[in-house]
Amino acid sequence: MDIPRIFNISESAHRIHNPFTPGNLATLGAALRLEPGTRILDLGSGSGEMLCTWARDYGIVGTGVDMSQMFSEQAKRRAEELGVAGQVEFIHGDAAGYVAADKVGVAACLGATWIGGGVAGTIELLAKSLRTGGIILIGEPYWLRLPPTEEAARNCHAGSMADFLVLPELLASFGGLGYDVVEMVLADHEGWDRYEATKWLTMRRWLEANPDDELAEDVRAGLTSEPVRYAAFTREYTGWGVFALMARTLSIWWITNYEPIPLAALPRVR
Ligand code: SAH
Repeated sequence: MDIPRIFNISESAHRIHNPFTPGNLATLGAALRLEPGTRILDLGSGSGEMLCTWARDYGIVGTGVDMSQMFSEQAKRRAEELGVAGQVEFIHGDAAGYVAADKVGVAACLGATWIGGGVAGTIELLAKSLRTGGIILIGEPYWLRLPPTEEAARNCHAGSMADFLVLPELLASFGGLGYDVVEMVLADHEGWDRYEATKWLTMRRWLEANPDDELAEDVRAGLTSEPVRYAAFTREYTGWGVFALMARTLSIWWITNYEPIPLAALPRVR
């Protein structure tokens, strides 16, 4: 079982497989005010940078599940390197349907919400592992501004314009699912550049070492087109952030006063 090989090639040198910098990850960990000993579940944990650095910096314990064998092995090595192998474990496997045996204080899925069939399904899945009052973390793209055409949206690696929301709509959608947004950390251009541009040198070096590989032509085509595609589309139109959510508990106040903000009342972004 593994993810398509092309990702293991282009992201083999990444520690963080999304547009977050190490600084963004540390900011998020600090923003959540994690108590030492907090248990965290991370679905699609990649190379384990979040769990490993938070174990070192904030004393958390946790489990990551990821379908890439290579990333899972990198995560285990990183845990040893940072001296936190006793605090975090990494499981190589499909995270779809994964529920933790012991309830966790934080349940996360950063940049892999297809695991639960989309944001709503992933929140539902993570909630099954969460203790009462715990925090769900969702890392998700959104439109910084709407691309002018459907073709431009696809060039941002969205299936269509409707695949992503603008930020106010995304935040409102969490409310619609019954969650308060209690924190957020947003990626910036620096983080996007680290995520995307890091692939280019990795691809170039891989091509030189593997000229006869069956994927060499695809990697060559990617290296030729990616810098311009990224600068013209993703960098212009796509944002990314991690949103911290807590379930709204029903109270008499909510039952009598709750009215979702109609999207039509938001400032015109479309
Ligand atoms: N959260 C990590 C990785 C994000 S990239 C980080 O921020 O660095 C998306 C990750 O999802 C990849 O590591 C990929 O291997 C993993 N993945 C994709 N499908 C998966 C599945 N069905 N189950 C578990 N992991 C999956």
